[in-house]
Amino acid sequence: MIIKTRKERLEITILRSLNARMSLSDKDVTNFLILKKGFEGEQKSDKWLEGFFEDWLIIHDLLLEYNNNKFQIDTLLISQSKIYPLDIKYFEGDYYVEGDKWYTCIKKEIKNPLHQLSRFEIMLRSLLDNLGYRYPLESYLIFNNPEFHLYLTTVNTSIIFPTQLNRFLKKLNANAKPGKLNKSHLKLAEQLVSLHLVEPPYPRLPPYGYGHLVKGILCPQCYSIFTDFLGGQLVCNNCGCKEEVESAVLRSVAELQLLFPDQKITTKVVHEWCRIIKSEKTIRRILGKNYKLSGHGKSANYVLPNA
Ligand SMILES: [Zn+2]
Repeated sequence: MIIKTRKERLEITILRSLNARMSLSDKDVTNFLILKKGFEGEQKSDKWLEGFFEDWLIIHDLLLEYNNNKFQIDTLLISQSKIYPLDIKYFEGDYYVEGDKWYTCIKKEIKNPLHQLSRFEIMLRSLLDNLGYRYPLESYLIFNNPEFHLYLTTVNTSIIFPTQLNRFLKKLNANAKPGKLNKSHLKLAEQLVSLHLVEPPYPRLPPYGYGHLVKGILCPQCYSIFTDFLGGQLVCNNCGCKEEVESAVLRSVAELQLLFPDQKITTKVVHEWCRIIKSEKTIRRILGKNYKLSGHGKSANYVLPNA
């Protein structure tokens, strides 16, 4: 049973939008591609874990804090008798280990993932102790990209390689003590999810301003700007994707709000932001139908749910 799914990080969503609307530096583009790829890798492993652990509780993507230290758990599996924090890496290419240090094939040192893993485990254990739970923990570092290889001179059983994954999951499932999960397991899972922190992505983004961004509605498939109408629908002339005007406007309003959380949503602003919709009336109708209007006259603006 999945208690918490993984959502795309806001940082990725915003960078995708900025990438379409302004010219990002090479460094920012690289960062965007790395984050995007990492997320795709995590999604793949999420899908595939589902099949193995129907009777277990699964929590994806937890950012927790203990003693002012934050730590991220990619996936947490809760079985009847044990808790398994999994750190999932979608590394590609060759890596090697020398002593305690990890390197890419071009000799660039990376953070030792095993150190990170033991740090998470210590913190999670303290947090669980604090909450009054005494389940044993067993952490694993999982590499799930088939294009990954690690040159390692010693055997480390907490590392699972792509070719071992199926066997590893089967073993985990077979070794689990029989017996159903009870209310206490569910309570623990819900408690952890309630402690999940959501960090605002803005400090880690490149600077941007409303005036510098290209206006228009982005195609939801290929992120180029819609330029054509056909039979009352917007049509992307890059990939052929079609979308109803209303859903395209609502998507663009959500994007505007994510990029500029302090921006007041008015007909005038949305009309300018969407650009391709010529009629202000259409925008007003869509906003009025979907959001609540607050205030009067010039200060009137639409209030988005959960905004
Ligand atoms: Zn497109």
